[in-house]
Amino acid sequence: MSNIKYIFCTGGVVSSVGKGITVAAIGRVLKARGLKVAIQKLDPYLNLDPGTMSPYQHGEVFVTQDGAETDLDLGHYERFVDEPVTNLSNVTSGQVYSEVLEKERRGDYLGKTIQVIPHITNEIKRRIKLLGKETGADIVLVEVGGTVGDIEGQPFLEAIRQMRTSLKRRDALYIHVTFLPYIGATKELKTKPTQHSVRDLRSMGIAANVIIARTDHPVSKEVVEKISLFCDVDEEAVVPLITAESIYDVPLMLEDAGLAEYILDWFKLEPRQKVELGAWREMVGKMRDATEKVTVGIVGKYVELEDAYMSVKEALVHAATTYGKALEVKWIQSESLRKDGCHEQLKELDAIVVPGGFGYRGVEGKIIAAQYARENKVPYLGLCLGMQVMCIEFARNVLGFEDANSTEFDENTHHPVIDLMLDQRAITDLGGTMRLGAYPCMLKPGSAAHTAYKQDEIEERHRHRWEFNNDFRQQFEENGMNFSGLSPDELLVEISEIADHPYMVGSQFHPEFLSRPNRPHALFEGLIKAAIERHDSSSPKKSRSRKNTQKQPNSTAAQNGAD
Ligand code: GLN
Repeated sequence: MSNIKYIFCTGGVVSSVGKGITVAAIGRVLKARGLKVAIQKLDPYLNLDPGTMSPYQHGEVFVTQDGAETDLDLGHYERFVDEPVTNLSNVTSGQVYSEVLEKERRGDYLGKTIQVIPHITNEIKRRIKLLGKETGADIVLVEVGGTVGDIEGQPFLEAIRQMRTSLKRRDALYIHVTFLPYIGATKELKTKPTQHSVRDLRSMGIAANVIIARTDHPVSKEVVEKISLFCDVDEEAVVPLITAESIYDVPLMLEDAGLAEYILDWFKLEPRQKVELGAWREMVGKMRDATEKVTVGIVGKYVELEDAYMSVKEALVHAATTYGKALEVKWIQSESLRKDGCHEQLKELDAIVVPGGFGYRGVEGKIIAAQYARENKVPYLGLCLGMQVMCIEFARNVLGFEDANSTEFDENTHHPVIDLMLDQRAITDLGGTMRLGAYPCMLKPGSAAHTAYKQDEIEERHRHRWEFNNDFRQQFEENGMNFSGLSPDELLVEISEIADHPYMVGSQFHPEFLSRPNRPHALFEGLIKAAIERHDSSSPKKSRSRKNTQKQPNSTAAQNGAD
């Protein structure tokens, strides 16, 4: 029998209470004790992966090193636990059903009737166990997406119930994350929805061992006792988790609540080292203490749903924290940008980020933002599509190719400066067919990218179909564009930068996926450094007075807070 311990994490009462962050934070406090942790998200939807879903539906698609397009919670897992996740870490109902149906067509089931139990549940269990086996983890943390009671989540709940029967009783731990609503009229937190949710879970054969009660208000001892009594969990296993100022507070809150010790006790595991959270605490302290701000505009088309740019925003937070600054993000709808009016929307920014995207909507606005950044020497970081629009802008306004475009947006342009990669031309399926995952890139000495990375060779994650068109390389270079990052065979442009500019860098890859809270990504660090320099040089008085006085009359940022 294997010795891997399993933690199964379910949600109750309502969704959107930060179950993914909670699970990631549990991973962090366990890793702080020297244990190897692997995390997996079970997603009950029928899509094979979120790659083809609208960002409005699903938020960001997080890309793993091995090129899987996954749920954004995997981004939290990587940022908190700081171990690369793989395609094994995201299992959807779509993948499970498709695998089972493929086996059925091949005749693997020898004429049996294929059923949710045992065939679907067996496939789910196989994937859970595979993660433990492949990663050599001490503890596998499994998050079930959605909440208890969702019809589509039932096979997953049945599978994690069955898991216990094949394990020693104390090798499985069930954590239920619930929410305590606050009744304003009587000023009290209600535990009844939690009790109901725990009962629902029990009706599926799963008894919660730990309850993490998310709430917006302080939780009294009586409330904890009540949950313990009615939900049949130890009092020290009821962990109130008040909405934190920053998501990076959560591991510290769980640590201070003693959750890791309870878990280790449950599993009869000894910690491998003294708890190592000192650097993390310091980082969170630095975030909290930062008063001077750096203002970055994210110019995208999904800005109404900030989750669509989750890793980009977090990468900016990490970099700002390194410089002791509070990040203020201005979300700018790219569709709203016009050449003649954009100054009003962009003038207060210390830096501009144009993130990734697909489709024509909002592209012209992104091109305008790139032009503004180039002409006004505003630090700019372009991520994938953000790099492509930077090249389109350059072609139109510096080289004078008025109709320059990507063939993604205009197939008939005479100047297709961004064009479909050869190996993409025959592909018709949308899902999982892009250039995905980690590829190496060589950096040119003396470039902004090389200065930022302090390395000659890097590896970064990709998710795109289109590329810079090499037919135009020479003209671009002769006119001030530096292609400072190339694939090792020099055939693909990976990074472009404007030579005569404080910091205007575009990457064909997505550096945001590799940024960690206490290890910001070089390109984001470079951007924030340039942003601070610009801020300080353009308004030295403003920045000094901010230090001394808490509020500036014209500073909406101070009221809005760090994010
Ligand atoms: N749509 C562009 C491409 O496929 C950019 C993709 C992205 O930004 N991730 O090449």
